Order: sequence, then C-alpha cells, then structure tokens
Amino acid sequence: MISRTLVLIKPDGVKRALSGEIIRRFERVGLKIIGMKMVWVDREFSKQHYSAHVGKQFYNNLEKYLTMGPVIAMVLEGINAVELARKIVGGTEPNKSAPGTIRGDYAHHTFSYTDKKGKSTMNLIHASGNEEEAKQEIALWFAPEELHDYKRSDDDFVI
Ligand code: UDP
Ligand code: MG
Repeated sequence: MISRTLVLIKPDGVKRALSGEIIRRFERVGLKIIGMKMVWVDREFSKQHYSAHVGKQFYNNLEKYLTMGPVIAMVLEGINAVELARKIVGGTEPNKSAPGTIRGDYAHHTFSYTDKKGKSTMNLIHASGNEEEAKQEIALWFAPEELHDYKRSDDDFVI
C-alpha cells in the first residue's frame, strides 16, 4: 500500500519561483520526500522520460518546455502515493483543473491556446500516471543511493 511516485516541478514552476509553494502542498498532506535534486535535462533525456509521447503532435513543444530550464525532481512516498500526487496536481489542462489543485490554482493555459501559440501547455508539474510509470521514472531519474529512508516526526499520525 505504501508506494512511491516521481514528481517534477517543471521549468515554469522553477522560473516562476513557485517551488516552495508546490513542495509545501505535497509535504503537508503527509507525502514524504525521499529523494530530491535540481536537474537541467537535455532533449535526449526528455525523449526517455516522455517516451510514450514521442511522435505525438504536441511532443516537440513538450520537449522544448521540459528542457527550457532546470526542473526539481523528487520521489515522494506515502499510501497510494501515485494516485494521491495526481489528485493534488490536478488535471492536465490547467484551465479545467479543479481549484485547490496545483495546476488549477497556479496556471490557466488551454490546449487550444497553446496549440495556436505553438508552445506546450505549461502546467507546472509532472507526476507519474500509474505504478508502472512510477517505477520506470524513478529508476530513470534517481540512483538507488539517492533515495533515503528516514522517519518523519509526524509518521505516527499520517502513515
Ligand atoms: N501536453 C500538451 N498538449 C497536449 C497534451 C499534453 O502540451 O495536448 C503536455 C502537458 O505539459 C502535459 C505533458 O504534455 O503535462 C504530458 O502529457 P500527459 O498526457 O502525460 O499529461 P500529464 O500526465 O502531465 O497530466
Ligand atoms: Mg503523463
């Protein structure tokens, strides 16, 4: 039941100085940060991370987006962490993401607007879509020794 998920604060989140706001939302729900680093990935790495999307109509702009600046990568652990992180992040298209979610509260792009502008839909966050994706993505972004097992002071109450 305790699982892990990969979350990225994408370059728009870092450049807009929203990293603290975003990390806070995951921490306060009880998700434990067990790995974290800042990385500026290249186009090759983007193709590995978004291998399922390579070749799609939006992929080129997505690659430009992911590589336009550094990202903050983290591995979060908790009860059904994958599903929980996706709930906190909100739906993919910010204009439709529920208020109270990160995407719903801090962005409002629509697919049609960004398509017309020739850029990616900027939605601040990546979070693994399912358990399988999470396992692959954690292995891609983090070496085993970069993940840490420790006790949080509120573990007895939230886990
Ligand atoms: N994206 C886009 N246009 C689309 C679909 C997706 O620009 O029509 C971008 C958007 O930044 C999204 C990312 O590609 O977060 C990956 O798409 P996915 O469907 O996996 O959405 P997510 O899992 O991030 O919610
Ligand atoms: Mg996805």
